[in-house]
Amino acid sequence: MKNGIRLLAVLIGLQCISLHSAIVIENITVIDAKNEVRNGQTVFIENGLIQSIGSTLDSSIGESDSNLERVDGTGKYLIPGLWDAHVHLTFVPEIDHKTHFDLYLKNGVTSIRDTGAILRELKPSLDYIKENPVTTPRLFYAGPLIDGADRVYKGMEPGFPNLSIGIDENSNIRGVVDGLIAEGVTFLKSYEMLTRETYLTLLQVAKENGLRVTGHVPLSIDLEEAIEAGLGGMQHVRNMDLACAKDADNLLIERQSDLENEEKIAGSALRTHIHSSQRYYAIDNTDDVRCLRIIKKLSAYGVFQTPTLTINTFDSRRFYADPEWRETYKDLPEAAENDWMDGSIRLSANDVTENAMKFDEWSLSLVRTMHEEGVKIIAGTDTPIGYLTPGYSLHKELELLAEAGLSNLEVLKSATITPAEFFGLEDKMGAIEAGMLADLVILNQNPLESISNTQDIHLVIAKGYVQ
Ligand SMILES: [Zn+2]
Repeated sequence: MKNGIRLLAVLIGLQCISLHSAIVIENITVIDAKNEVRNGQTVFIENGLIQSIGSTLDSSIGESDSNLERVDGTGKYLIPGLWDAHVHLTFVPEIDHKTHFDLYLKNGVTSIRDTGAILRELKPSLDYIKENPVTTPRLFYAGPLIDGADRVYKGMEPGFPNLSIGIDENSNIRGVVDGLIAEGVTFLKSYEMLTRETYLTLLQVAKENGLRVTGHVPLSIDLEEAIEAGLGGMQHVRNMDLACAKDADNLLIERQSDLENEEKIAGSALRTHIHSSQRYYAIDNTDDVRCLRIIKKLSAYGVFQTPTLTINTFDSRRFYADPEWRETYKDLPEAAENDWMDGSIRLSANDVTENAMKFDEWSLSLVRTMHEEGVKIIAGTDTPIGYLTPGYSLHKELELLAEAGLSNLEVLKSATITPAEFFGLEDKMGAIEAGMLADLVILNQNPLESISNTQDIHLVIAKGYVQ
């Protein structure tokens, strides 16, 4: 896979740093979602990699090495570094990239996937990582949302910053994808206003380049057709509601006629109009047999799901209404902290609507069924949209995935092995084995007893360095 070579270059590049660092963690319980739980382990880390793991340490290691850092793991738990696989670094300009990166690492999130940003705006974040290779998380990015000509996120209305590019049948799609690859993107993010034909061409071009396309399934296409055409992943379980409705075919025809947009309303307003006219109707009229058929197809075709339950439950769980959650805003730059506090207090005055509860229950029960049917689930949040504070928010997602019905070990998998697998990196990341990248989190309490224990962090190691 051509993309594998690009990803490898990114990972190896990060290790070629001249600073020497060696760490030995002693007497720790090692937990990953691939191997049995291992007690009393000694883990030796050097040059950004886990060099060895076992019940004893080779006595020759570290004797003469004054740089060797010893960490006592007694009574503690070692897990792989976590991923937040759905973030938007540029969405809230008041939150700078350093704040983002520091908060991810503080919270044990050692890898992030940016799922939509204009590359020009993302560039300072990329430069910062180059200049600060050992104090930043690993960043995988899609670049802009690839939307239809009538874009949703084009920076013309409040709440819809410019995050996208628009393409249609007349675009040079191959040229667009080549351009993104030249800028270092390792996957693509599709968006809802793409026409069926353009989307199918995009999937084809992506496949030829070894890139997965994840994102919002366009409103113009039947989901099963998209799956069969090579859709790589879905975000927010978006448009599963529409595809699972008993009269899904009619809803699709209705959408296609709405998308002709004879009234020429803006892309964002049109998208909102379509969802508000179809979503709750569709949820009320789910055809369980049809839905299970689609879910089984997602599973059979290996389509990754990033349900982003944190953002799907924004109006029902209302983290922003919780004073304890608002404490996390103190870690943001002052302008963002003040803005979020004001906005949170204002929103908290509203009641939770019946539709918000309906969407909450539907999202969680859908994730449960998908998981039972073997669909690959990835933990991601949509941070910093919805007053989701970088880093902290991932732990909310983990709790919601557990509530949806994943075991604590399966939740860990969704934030470690599965996102690595999305990029074909599961032999380098996501588990704790000799030869793997040294992105690790030491916890004070056992995450298999309660997934909330991922919040009780003793130490974070990223790219082989104690943070
Ligand atoms: Zn998003």
